[in-house]
Amino acid sequence: MSQTYDVIVLGLGAMGTAAAYHLANRGQRVLGLERFAPAHDQGSSHGQSRIIRQAYYENPSYVPLLLRAYELWNELNHASGETVMLVTGGVMLGEPDTDVMRGSIRSAREHNLQHDLLDAAEIRARWPQFRAPDGTIALYERLGGVIFPELAILAHQRLAQEAGATLQFGETAQSWQVGPSGDGVEVITDGGRYTAERLVLSAGAWMPELLPEFPLTVQRNVLYWFEPDGGTAPFASGRCPIYIWDTGDLSFYGFPALPGTPAGVKVAFHNHGPLCAPETIDRAIHQTEIDEMRGWLAEYVPSLAHGSLLDARTCMYTLTPDHDFMLGLHPQHQQIVIASPCSGHGYKFASVVGEVLADLATTGSTGHPIGWFSPARFLG
Ligand SMILES: Cc1cc2nc3c(=O)[nH]c(=O)nc-3n(C[C@H](O)[C@H](O)[C@H](O)COP(=O)(O)OP(=O)(O)OC[C@H]3O[C@@H](n4cnc5c(N)ncnc54)[C@H](O)[C@@H]3O)c2cc1C
Repeated sequence: MSQTYDVIVLGLGAMGTAAAYHLANRGQRVLGLERFAPAHDQGSSHGQSRIIRQAYYENPSYVPLLLRAYELWNELNHASGETVMLVTGGVMLGEPDTDVMRGSIRSAREHNLQHDLLDAAEIRARWPQFRAPDGTIALYERLGGVIFPELAILAHQRLAQEAGATLQFGETAQSWQVGPSGDGVEVITDGGRYTAERLVLSAGAWMPELLPEFPLTVQRNVLYWFEPDGGTAPFASGRCPIYIWDTGDLSFYGFPALPGTPAGVKVAFHNHGPLCAPETIDRAIHQTEIDEMRGWLAEYVPSLAHGSLLDARTCMYTLTPDHDFMLGLHPQHQQIVIASPCSGHGYKFASVVGEVLADLATTGSTGHPIGWFSPARFLG
């Protein structure tokens, strides 16, 4: 006989495992469904590292959520006994009129965040691995750092299970529907049929399939790991912060050398790739794209441009038209909670998004400032 749950969480990636963790800790009967294995590499949450930072260039309105996200990541570090968040320092670089520099400075000032502003000579003196052209400025924040995405998913997952959540892997949800009287939900998978009071949809790049009425797109992006020419010492964690460099044409970002695999130093372009779909994405890495990355690195981080490529992997962004999040109740079905897409910058928020999703799935509202992420803004 099928069991009824309080909440079904569809998709156990970054957002879904965080939701399951908070829901289970509140005593909810939770069923989580995931088509692949735990912390797999087929979606948006793999590849060793994600940036976290506070002087948010995208919009100062994200900062209150970020401050809570930091608290919750610290709690997860503590509760799991793992390092899911590592503070390394973070630096934004670019000319003063670039989006990243204008936005970061604005967020830091509006929210009174600790930060240092540096000119090109100071950048070159402090981080000789960066070739900062004259006219470049930087905003440094001591609290910038890294989330380890696979470790965070496994930590949320394990603690959710310890708190009583039922999490099923290798099971694909084929459809969902609201109950016959308009409340409750039913989810049909390739393994069964489940009912619950509420449904959290946290399917990442598969959200366009589950919610075709929303204007969502999926974008292929590539992560690269290089062995620095001359050795990794200048990129050691402690010496090298995470960084985002707005060149005016496009932005790329990078990390210090980190524990775990792949080895080497990771860099990537932000928001730079063709639209794709999860079933048909081209996962091969082409020589032309490696050459493009080496070309930009030759300008800005030459020792990486001249190093050997150790690994490269694709990853998907799920974009909204305005590149802000889509997070809230489904406008037509109050028992459906929409938990992504996060437009390629969501991982750092997963801890607080889990808390928001648990609020929405238990009470229908949240005290967190998420009104501007309302899914309704995309339905005319
Ligand atoms: C290259 C790249 C770099 C990034 N860098 C950063 C960064 O530095 N900082 C940052 O904050 N963010 C970053 N992001 C964004 C961040 O990683 C994503 O916003 C986040 O991982 C999205 O989490 P999610 O839970 O929505 O998706 P996912 O973690 O992909 O989870 C969705 C899950 O749903 C499952 N699923 C889908 N359909 C079904 C179904 N029908 N049945 C069962 N299960 C299903 C999938 O298998 C998957 O496990 C980056 C993303 C990429 C791709």
